[in-house]
Amino acid sequence: MFAHAAVARAAHLRQCGKFLLLAFAYIETVRNSRENRCMRHRWVCMIFSGLLAAVSAPAAQTSPSAPPQLPPLRRHPVVALTFDDLPAGGGLHPGYTRTGIATQLTSELRAAHLRGVYGFMNGDGVADDPDMQQALRVWLAAGMNIGNHTWSHPALSSETAAQFEHNIAFNEPLLRQYAGKRDWHWFRFPYLEEGATLQQRNDVRAWLHAHGYRIAEVTLNFNDDDWDDPYGRCLAKDDTASIAWLRQSYMENAAEFIRLGRETEQLAFGHEIPAVLLLHETSFTTLMLPSLLHLLRQEGFRFASLPKVEHNPAYSLNPNIGLPNGDSFPDAFLDAHKSGYPSFRPEPVQRLNSICQ
Ligand SMILES: [Zn+2]
Repeated sequence: MFAHAAVARAAHLRQCGKFLLLAFAYIETVRNSRENRCMRHRWVCMIFSGLLAAVSAPAAQTSPSAPPQLPPLRRHPVVALTFDDLPAGGGLHPGYTRTGIATQLTSELRAAHLRGVYGFMNGDGVADDPDMQQALRVWLAAGMNIGNHTWSHPALSSETAAQFEHNIAFNEPLLRQYAGKRDWHWFRFPYLEEGATLQQRNDVRAWLHAHGYRIAEVTLNFNDDDWDDPYGRCLAKDDTASIAWLRQSYMENAAEFIRLGRETEQLAFGHEIPAVLLLHETSFTTLMLPSLLHLLRQEGFRFASLPKVEHNPAYSLNPNIGLPNGDSFPDAFLDAHKSGYPSFRPEPVQRLNSICQ
């Protein structure tokens, strides 16, 4: 469970780019018909093309939402994987247990030589559920870490700062019990909501700082958990064709939003920074993790721990903005500067909602 930054971005694009989209749609229509005519009237077409370029270029440059030109992406970017909603991310689908998910996920991480990966825990329900307790033990025994994700996963925008801080503190005895001497003082905001107002943001940050926490920011996020409920429905119907589409669309969405996140880092900081990827401990992300790791390696990514990544000075910067909806770390800087976002292909929300219903 986390912020839907893509929705906020889509709204932003809708507001800023409506006129541009209409203009481009018109130009594309003219271009398509022009291509047909070009077959017959080459010279007339060339003159028309020149005029069209002259008309369309200034429109793109004067758009308030048009982002600047971006440099090429790094050949070997760095990323820390993180998993939210331990030990019960997503629904428990047919044939799955919490312990089974944790066992499979940690074996995939260890097969990729990844240790010390942070999973952010909500303690609510753990005391009454031996399966959740065992899942936590499996996670830690495999050499992974846990951090605080609040007790019951509230949205900060619907709480007072004091209520939210109480919810964080209420999670601490369980963290202490399971993590022992390991450093569990890393905090991930549910829904990536860091404060609806600047005052609320500053209040909670001051509390976290006073209690020894570092904030586990997120720079890369592709809403991986949106595939988990559809997966559960398709699994119950034994619909293998739909599950194949879920796998394919998950990877396409991951590739698109990882590219978007990297470009957003460039816009926010002038260059890519060591990244933090938000994932969820769901059965579907567990199923897809080997493919996802393959994609990241293909893109040249190298893996590092969360503390090492956030050692980068960029993580000491603060956009100093209250946001009613959650946003990633670089997105918050673009929001603060009212900068345009890179273009992106949105998540297939409608099909995810309707598939296997
Ligand atoms: Zn969460």
